[in-house]
Amino acid sequence: MKRSLSIILSILAVTLILSSPLIAQVEKAPDRSRGEGPFTRLIIKGVTIVNGNGAPPQGPMDIVVEGNRITSIRNAGYPNIPLDPDRGPDPQSGDKVLEAEGMYLLPGFIDMHGHIGGRAQGADAEYVFKLWMAHGITTVRDPSAGNGLAWVLDQKDRSSKNEITAPRLFAYTSFGQNLTELPRKSPLARNAAAEKLRGPITNANEARSWVQANAARGADGIKFFGASPEVMQAALEENTRLGKGSACHHAQLNVGWWNVVNSAKAGLTSMEHWYGLPEALFDDRTVQHYPVDYNYNNEQDRFGEAGRLWQQAAKPGSEKWNEVMETLLNLDFTLDPTFNIYEASRDLMRARRAEWHETYTMPSLWEFYQPSMRSHGSYWHFWGTEEEVSWKENYRLWMHFVNEYKNKGGRVTTGSDSGFIFQLYGFAYIRELELLREAGFHPLEVIRSATLNGAEALGVADQIGTIEIGKLADMVIVEENPLANLKVLYGTGAIKLTEDNEVIRAGGVKYTIKDGIVYDAKELLEDVRKMVDKKKAEENYTIYQPGMKK
Ligand SMILES: [Zn+2]
Repeated sequence: MKRSLSIILSILAVTLILSSPLIAQVEKAPDRSRGEGPFTRLIIKGVTIVNGNGAPPQGPMDIVVEGNRITSIRNAGYPNIPLDPDRGPDPQSGDKVLEAEGMYLLPGFIDMHGHIGGRAQGADAEYVFKLWMAHGITTVRDPSAGNGLAWVLDQKDRSSKNEITAPRLFAYTSFGQNLTELPRKSPLARNAAAEKLRGPITNANEARSWVQANAARGADGIKFFGASPEVMQAALEENTRLGKGSACHHAQLNVGWWNVVNSAKAGLTSMEHWYGLPEALFDDRTVQHYPVDYNYNNEQDRFGEAGRLWQQAAKPGSEKWNEVMETLLNLDFTLDPTFNIYEASRDLMRARRAEWHETYTMPSLWEFYQPSMRSHGSYWHFWGTEEEVSWKENYRLWMHFVNEYKNKGGRVTTGSDSGFIFQLYGFAYIRELELLREAGFHPLEVIRSATLNGAEALGVADQIGTIEIGKLADMVIVEENPLANLKVLYGTGAIKLTEDNEVIRAGGVKYTIKDGIVYDAKELLEDVRKMVDKKKAEENYTIYQPGMKK
């Protein structure tokens, strides 16, 4: 999602001043009350492993976790033959046994683009974290640290100690963001906020010193939105020198002089979404074919014309297409497409009417999604057939590039960018898996993208990303085969007709294990449902359809 700092600030300012003085700053997560463990030994018995390294499913297997580490993975028998109940290891006191025969176990999912709520959305950390954890997401990269670096680092620290129910967090600050937030009410904080508004970074020296300060204050990396070539070059070089990661949403305002290939060559480690890639692929023009009455500050202009962008790029298989592909591959560059966040552009009704909104979408978030001249991403001024059809073509070409990049050995990760455009935390991550499948990934390639590839991109593949002895015990357990139907990973499960002609919901993640702690995923979802119900009751609120009577 496009959020240059000034735009966020102005949205926040407008929201706070005009509409709702009652909107509080996003609350941090409360002390952990969910999850069991870690255990001296956690023994998971008879499970089928779907690993993150491209290996085919294998089961039945017994897995032993001691504390937060995987210490043993063993064959437990043969499919369709009753398992020997006396097979080891013998449970001792303090051990926890999970009987998981017939279930599937995957490495914990990594969301490479997860904003931890926001004041405008009214999405507190507990709400967001539980939706993520309920969908098996055990690691999240927060691209822009929207609640402030100190806030995110605090939650990261508490999550690493498992004092809160939350995924592992990686804080990628917004380039140029103020790095010294203090509690909001203090006078110093107001000064800091004023400093933040002083202006953008305009030269190489300022860029380098900000990058140094960012690393020194403990951020894991930087999220860029584009800047001048001088600033981008200096910032990326310095960040690379410091060994930090980086992500960039190449916003239209700077893509004319700095696209994805420029960034990758200067040291960027991952690109977000897709902007800047078709521009790098231009071979018969140098700027997007903007209509002469286009205005970037008009959201429908912005998203409507974006839908016509891939058609203006070099064709698949052309010389330019191959050259850009090779350049990015040679730089070991990561694509984090976040297909799902634009899906409303090709099918607005699907995104708007997703069946989980009624139960799990907060009233404030629902309001935030609605068409508005002000809210970013709420570009449904008059979104019609023409826009959806051009976006479908956009997706076809974009998916073609991403799938070919994967086939040639390129790293593609899974990111959601939820909290905008009708995409809900956790649920939208599963939708992203389905869209990678649609792009041409084998289901095992989808799972690898969601696990090992993310771990590699974050530089922690020695710790997480696969089910391996010695790695941290981050796992997802589900009662259905997710390779056969990724929809079984949705919190609402998949509709299934039984042999008795009864309609049931199959799946939904059963257990999310993080650091050897076992969470009942459905219990987490239930917590979320109660939070939403409470808000709705307080406000006497029902989800409505825009333009119809509330
Ligand atoms: Zn984003």
